[in-house]
Amino acid sequence: MQCPRTSHPLKPVKVGGIKVYISEHSGGVFFDNQVLSNFTNPSELRAEVLAKHLRQFSAPLGDESARVKCPKCPDIVMMRRYFSPLRVVEIDECPGCGGIWLDTGELDTLHENHLSAKEREMLRIKMLEEHQAFHIDSPRRYKLSEQDGRSNLEKVFAIAADVISD
Ligand SMILES: [Zn+2]
Repeated sequence: MQCPRTSHPLKPVKVGGIKVYISEHSGGVFFDNQVLSNFTNPSELRAEVLAKHLRQFSAPLGDESARVKCPKCPDIVMMRRYFSPLRVVEIDECPGCGGIWLDTGELDTLHENHLSAKEREMLRIKMLEEHQAFHIDSPRRYKLSEQDGRSNLEKVFAIAADVISD
């Protein structure tokens, strides 16, 4: 496998017993499908060791916005997506094999924005509440305005009735 940025060979390295593929040229790293989740929690030694190891390599990437091809599936262009609903860290994911490529510094950024399990759950509940509120709110608001309309109409009739009775 080659570094998708510099085409240098990726070096398979075992970190805490889990294999990742490192570009000792660009400081990027490739994770097989589902493997990244083992390295996202900065309080875990494995994640800390990998991030520290990657920091010693970094080469100018050139155009960072350029799409990269999956090191594992050379014909597939990786998709840029947000790592989490927080929309802070962008990662490259292969739609073919589910592998993930992180450029130099991206693992650090991911760690800086890491949420604990509790924070994640709170965010999930908050988003769920906002989502539900949106759906519950609109029919209720519609009903309210309907009632307002009726009561306004009733007022008009009441006034009209007064006018007529006078
Ligand atoms: Zn792939």
